Amino acid sequence: MNMSSGVELGINHLKKSFGSLQVLRGVNLKIRQGEFVAIVGKSGCGKSTLLRHLAGLEEATEGEIIQDKKPIVGLNRKARVMFQDARLLPWKSVLENVGIGIGLKNDWKNRAAWALEQVSLQDREGEWPSVLSGGQKQRVALARALAAQPQLLLLDEPLGALDALTRIEMQALIEKLWQQQSFTVLLVTHDVSEAIMLADRVILIEEGEIKLDLQIPLERPRSRENPIFNELESKV
Ligand code: ADP
Ligand code: MG
Repeated sequence: MNMSSGVELGINHLKKSFGSLQVLRGVNLKIRQGEFVAIVGKSGCGKSTLLRHLAGLEEATEGEIIQDKKPIVGLNRKARVMFQDARLLPWKSVLENVGIGIGLKNDWKNRAAWALEQVSLQDREGEWPSVLSGGQKQRVALARALAAQPQLLLLDEPLGALDALTRIEMQALIEKLWQQQSFTVLLVTHDVSEAIMLADRVILIEEGEIKLDLQIPLERPRSRENPIFNELESKV
């Protein structure tokens, strides 16, 4: 599980402004293959903007992002993003929505079915998204990302709109998938406790700068009862 240690991503002096608004003010970060990194910080500090750069959805004002020794230019085909809302197409079946992740091409049905199995929704593939619960819709969105077998999974507050119990289920699912597969995860979350539960490393952003880069030394499976947990929580 996630034993590779090569540097996959190098974010080098990344700056981004929208007009006169400086959102990212020189972000430097190295991320190893297979790492699980959480990004926390107040609303508006630049978390989503950073993730969009990694997905190749945004052009840097200054600096660059190196992935596998090459700068990311245009859409990052090795990455997939999952957002707070599932963004499913209501006129497509669950299976087709997952297949969209791989362009409904070639062997898409088998791969989409495999991805739905990973999120335990294999028996819902013929249904419309509208009959699913919020948590199930997010599972479909996760399957859509998995179908592409991305090297980098970018999660932008994916659990923010879910109730507490569903969130705990989804946290366990994300952790399990990360342990089974070999992708790198960048998880943006408002929830420091969630960040410490799931990630190897928690990064705090304040006003477009990295203020803290904290390794999480806890063994898995993790418990919030572990005294180190509170200690870590007070540091972020
Ligand atoms: P976060 O995800 O940390 O809440 P964002 O990265 O979404 O923050 O946004 C950071 C700042 O950049 C906010 O002030 C936001 O309004 C601004 N911003 C984000 N995208 C754009 C855009 N396309 N045009 C103008 N301003 C933007
Ligand atoms: Mg955001």
